[in-house]
Amino acid sequence: MKSALIIGSGIAGLASALRLKKAGFSVKVFEAANHAGGKLHAFQLGDFRFDMGPSLFTMPHLVDELFLLFDKNPKDYFNYIKKETVCNYFWEDGTRFSVPASEDEFVQKASDQFNVEENRIKKYLARNKEKYDLTADIFLNKSLHKWSTYLSFTTLKSLSQAYKLHLNDTLNGVNKKYFDNRYLVQLFNRYATYNGSSPFKTPGIMSMIPHLEMFYGTFLPKGGMHQISQSLYQLAVEQNIEFHFNEPVNEIITEASKAKGIKTKKGDYFADIVVSNTDVFTAYSKLLKSNKKPARILNQERSSSAVIFYWGIRKTFQDLDLHNILFSDNYKEEFNALFNDKTLYNDPTVYINITSKQEKKDAPEGCENWFVMVNAPGNFGQNWDTLIAELRKNLINKINRILKCSIEDHIVVEEILDPRKIETKTASHLGSLYGTSSNSKFSAFLRHSNFSKDYKNLYFCGGSVHPGGGIPLCLLSAKIATENITAHD
Ligand code: FAD
Repeated sequence: MKSALIIGSGIAGLASALRLKKAGFSVKVFEAANHAGGKLHAFQLGDFRFDMGPSLFTMPHLVDELFLLFDKNPKDYFNYIKKETVCNYFWEDGTRFSVPASEDEFVQKASDQFNVEENRIKKYLARNKEKYDLTADIFLNKSLHKWSTYLSFTTLKSLSQAYKLHLNDTLNGVNKKYFDNRYLVQLFNRYATYNGSSPFKTPGIMSMIPHLEMFYGTFLPKGGMHQISQSLYQLAVEQNIEFHFNEPVNEIITEASKAKGIKTKKGDYFADIVVSNTDVFTAYSKLLKSNKKPARILNQERSSSAVIFYWGIRKTFQDLDLHNILFSDNYKEEFNALFNDKTLYNDPTVYINITSKQEKKDAPEGCENWFVMVNAPGNFGQNWDTLIAELRKNLINKINRILKCSIEDHIVVEEILDPRKIETKTASHLGSLYGTSSNSKFSAFLRHSNFSKDYKNLYFCGGSVHPGGGIPLCLLSAKIATENITAHD
């Protein structure tokens, strides 16, 4: 039987472990932390439950697929509900807009509220779908680092219609071409943050992201986001995948340009295949001892990080739902602060996620569990304690202005996560949430491939390699990595 060693049990590590097991490998997973899931983790603060990282979940079929691989009914492990309200948006001038899950309803509602022709919105959404249909197969489902990808019919078709992709415009530029309504432009600009980029830099092709959200919908797993990783971990254990927690990998053992195994403080382990789910930057800087480092790839700009306040709130808010956004009044300056000045903006966009709206047991009666997140630059050694103290004041003022409350009087427990902690807890270079940013039209091509060009038998999966960060893309990275491995069998 062939054997595989996996470094890290993030969502992509778990998915790779399962896929390799199904392909007939014996699989061992080595994890530095004491739990599976990486960024998909949860914790309890007093009587309040919080998901640590991801809060937005789309394309759940990619998780279901892993249970189906083993002829299991996904519903026996993992259940989720589709949200009828995608997100509530709030602006400083009192404007509010709630995005419904139905696209037709969205078009009608947005047209009425923002005074934009229905046809204009429909055209925009149709073009977003077209962008997705033209490119998903190449950019999301295949390795961009194999010649075969470029020789397929779908690729040639996409290339012949590349002018439809808005590669030479920014997302903001495209959105402004379609709409002269600042609220709608800002609402659609926000999708750049789904991969940690700036709408003023990322190419217009990224308007395919709202299509994904509108087409597939947004979901909340029963028991919270953490259930995604926990249910996959349960399946993996049932399939006799071996987990070594609290056992960080210190080195990938190589010999004559081949990966042979890994080194931990407990000993050396050897296998036919090594799959790294750790951030690719960390893999090269800490685990591969040779000098062969793809500097151009590793030095690319990273996606944004975040500061998160986990608050137990003794009060309930009728105006809020699962996902809520309180927009900055100057989005351009906010992204300028994040990506150019590498600091926090004084009027940040505030995201409030409240799972207790759906999962009542996440907070005591009459209370809510608030996950309050603002986008942040990576960790470049800023004076985070000062920045976070200032941010806390600014965002409390913002919440109070917009929701007409005194939120500080209702906070009963608090925990804070910042770029430094994200970097140390999950080995993500600079604390980035999604690997490299997509602030350039070449970003997709510059992401590290799912295999090593220098070391045979070494593969990569997860948010820092192709096709990118976010749960669905991490799951696809595992699929592509495994297909690469089994193609060589
Ligand atoms: P990670 O989750 O990064 O896990 C890597 C694992 O490898 C970790 O467990 C780590 O301990 C382990 N490891 C690292 N080095 C070693 C080593 N040397 N030896 C052993 N183990 C090692 N995505 C969404 O889709 N929706 C969202 O709403 C969303 N919001 C987010 C909010 C926050 C605050 C954060 C942090 C992320 C968010 N993301 C979101 C991104 C999403 O969490 C990631 O894209 C995804 O979880 C990354 O998974 P991964 O498989 O790349 O590995």
